[in-house]
Amino acid sequence: MTNAASSESGPDILSHRQARQSRPGSRGLLSIVIPCHNEEEVIESTHRRLVAALPSTGMDFEILYIDDGSRDRTLDRLEAIAAGDPRATVIELSRNFGQQSAMSAGLARARGDAVVIIDADLQDPPEVIPEMVECWRCGADVAYGRRRSRDGETWFKLVTASCFHRFFASLVPYPIPVDTGDFKLLDRAVVDAVCGLPEKRRYLRSLVAWTGFRQEPVWYDRHARPAGETKYSTRKLIRLAIDAVMLSSDTPLRAAWWAAGVLATVGVGCTLSACLMPTSDGTLVAGIAAVVTLAGAIQTSAVAIVGEYVVRTYREVQGRPSWVVKRTIEGDSAAGAGHADHHGSRAA
Ligand code: UDP
Ligand code: MG
Repeated sequence: MTNAASSESGPDILSHRQARQSRPGSRGLLSIVIPCHNEEEVIESTHRRLVAALPSTGMDFEILYIDDGSRDRTLDRLEAIAAGDPRATVIELSRNFGQQSAMSAGLARARGDAVVIIDADLQDPPEVIPEMVECWRCGADVAYGRRRSRDGETWFKLVTASCFHRFFASLVPYPIPVDTGDFKLLDRAVVDAVCGLPEKRRYLRSLVAWTGFRQEPVWYDRHARPAGETKYSTRKLIRLAIDAVMLSSDTPLRAAWWAAGVLATVGVGCTLSACLMPTSDGTLVAGIAAVVTLAGAIQTSAVAIVGEYVVRTYREVQGRPSWVVKRTIEGDSAAGAGHADHHGSRAA
């Protein structure tokens, strides 16, 4: 294991440098973290593809499946996988906590010198992992999958995702790669830094970037889902986008100042034109109504934005963990012989 780099004051650059020097050239442990929610159709192929691809990394590996409250037979299939493969571990969460929490639960449990996060649905090919390991061995602390192409997505999702990534990158005050998802390899130092952060609600893509470690892209083609369906409706995607922005940036709060500036300019312009130009009473009333409506809309949006931040602050103050582990099934402990871990929820 390499040195931990997290501290109360943030990542410790010195121990990070030491970690880089001691990075294993051949063996060492690689952890694979896989959040799973209703993936019964694909999970067995995912395991087969992973165990076929990982030996070429030259590292020992553990595969951590986090069952995020699946309602189909995903958990049964995962138990069978763990029963037949000592390298697989299943972490069963007590309900559906969401992908971000499932990934965080996996990171908290991972023991590897490097940790790869990958979706369960084979959209991100496991065969790219050896390239990520190579990139890590060459000195990258974060080897993130950057999408060269994305099959099986609607043009609407492609355009909105691309616009959102760029908009998001412009909001956060540290470099964050665009056209990437959660498929990435993290050095142990980065995992420790992220897991050491006190916040409960998390958007991992920005937390990893926030730690400031060296990030390098590994280009790949993202495939269509071979089976099953996306867990993200448009509504859930919008919620995720709002969460991403509000958990990572305070710019929306400050935007009220810009809105106030716009409003004041419009107000002064309307007042001047009302004084200087001969207008009928009707035009004047319409102008005043427009300004009052605009002011109302801006004020209401500002209150709504403040409300969103207050909700997130309230949830943080409550201090509840972001996930609860119901049971952990170790790969070598045979089918169903996992141990319960009701307090498992390290405060994420
Ligand atoms: N996922 C999860 N919990 C959820 C939703 C999704 O663990 O509440 C997992 C899901 O099983 C998959 C990954 O997160 O492994 C990404 O989900 P999905 O493929 O639906 O997202 P998309 O690729 O469509 O953006
Ligand atoms: Mg997917």
